[in-house]
Amino acid sequence: MTDTAIVSFPASGCDVSSVTLERGQRQVFCGLAGIVWLHRKIQDAFFLVVGSRTCAHLLQSAAGVMIFAEPRFATAILQERDLAGMADCNQELDRVAAEILERRPDIKTLFLVGSCPSEVIKLDLAKAAERLSAAYRGRVRVLDYSASGLEATFTQGEDTCLLSLVPELPPLADDERSLLVLGTLPDVVEDQFTRMFAELGIGSVHFLPPRQSTAFPPVGRGTSLLLAQPFLGETARALQKRGATLLTAPFPFGVEGTLGWLQAATDAWEIPVARLHEVTAPAVARAQRGIARQREILVGKRITFLPDSQLELPIARFLSRECGMELVEVATPFLERQLMAPELALLPTGLRLTEGQDLERQLDRLRADRPDLTVCGLGLANPLESEGLRTKWSIELVFTPVHGFDQAADLAELFARPLVRSSLLRV
Ligand code: SF4
Repeated sequence: MTDTAIVSFPASGCDVSSVTLERGQRQVFCGLAGIVWLHRKIQDAFFLVVGSRTCAHLLQSAAGVMIFAEPRFATAILQERDLAGMADCNQELDRVAAEILERRPDIKTLFLVGSCPSEVIKLDLAKAAERLSAAYRGRVRVLDYSASGLEATFTQGEDTCLLSLVPELPPLADDERSLLVLGTLPDVVEDQFTRMFAELGIGSVHFLPPRQSTAFPPVGRGTSLLLAQPFLGETARALQKRGATLLTAPFPFGVEGTLGWLQAATDAWEIPVARLHEVTAPAVARAQRGIARQREILVGKRITFLPDSQLELPIARFLSRECGMELVEVATPFLERQLMAPELALLPTGLRLTEGQDLERQLDRLRADRPDLTVCGLGLANPLESEGLRTKWSIELVFTPVHGFDQAADLAELFARPLVRSSLLRV
């Protein structure tokens, strides 16, 4: 693409009617993983998982390498007696919550996070949150959400968490207007976008989740909603019910996606496209120079996405259109057709697109295709590597800053790295 390109959606693109639906055994990571990036973002929130030792181990191993300070998450472990329904879990939960709040006066929001075990015994965390909210009124807000891995993908934990915040958001005054960016962004990326929106003349910009839970963004009829992550459909619908207007756009990955995303906001604010060009030109040029270096490694390489993060479509679009990669198959756990329409329009016609998973059949296709790179969950990466397939963990896409112009080259590099490593090993 040229450095003056503004996204115009082609009439063709990927045909949504040609999506193959698969229903079978799935291999996905659990929604508790979202706590890792959510607790880093909301700096005065504590996440108390009500779960088993397995949940505690999962959380510890997912977060362990990144926690350098006292963590703001913990697991209230359900014992066998609890699971057999012989103990009052609520008493124990109240005791653990009291301990945490006494030890951590900085905590302003306490999330009770449901897991598979708490759901199996039907522990009512909504009631527990209500009870604790009443007990600590004025001191801490207590909310609940489910991150159970039974039916969810690992990114859905963020959707259910943010959904629990929607009723807490203050109303936006009727005569006010604001832009609400939905989805966790690293602070450095949030700051870049804040500066860019200010330069473009878009005023009153808020982010959900916020850095402090004492500064929840307002929402109302004057809210324009722009999604930074594609896996937040439930929260987006709840915000629309509160009056927000959804701006549909490609997601801000790569130059093209970021330009299209910003353009959705400038169009809503009736800012001329020429102004968008002017403001973004230096960042676009920088990003294109950085991507060009990675493109030399990626161009012509074949890539398959297994369904895991729900980021598959926008990332595949970026790798295909800006890095010259060949898409062998793109599989996604759920296809949110309305949110994904701008991405589908930018994907190649005839793409093999799959929604859902039937693991064995998918692995058969993968072994027949033998792409140069497979994007997949943690659980599949090592077995596939042992079969001589190069892999990339999809979870890295949420642990690494990858949104926006200044991170576009880093995003491309994430995929170039395993290919470089494998070529070095072959020498
Ligand atoms: S899948 Fe269920 S039991 Fe396993 S860690 Fe996640 S919430 Fe806990």
